[in-house]
Amino acid sequence: MGQTLDIKCPRCDKKFEWSTGSGFLEVEILHCDKCGKEKEWNKYDLVTDGDLDCPCGGTFTDDAPIRCPKCKTEIADVSDCTQEVLMWD
Ligand SMILES: [Zn+2]
Ligand SMILES: [Zn+2]
Repeated sequence: MGQTLDIKCPRCDKKFEWSTGSGFLEVEILHCDKCGKEKEWNKYDLVTDGDLDCPCGGTFTDDAPIRCPKCKTEIADVSDCTQEVLMWD
């Protein structure tokens, strides 16, 4: 069960989707805590720490802040910037 948010950046007006939660089978969606890059992670895979390092120097985590992919602004007021919420399982 997860959800995809349609978000509009309050700073640059860029629209983007942000997916959270665990979705299809054993795949979980993680985001980089520095740049917001999305990564699908199979939680049943044996992973080393290195697999969760982003090239930017950040770390992929399931509680990274929502970040605009264009201007990298952290979306503080998520509900205010959300245009639509898609639930999926
Ligand atoms: Zn990153
Ligand atoms: Zn932006």
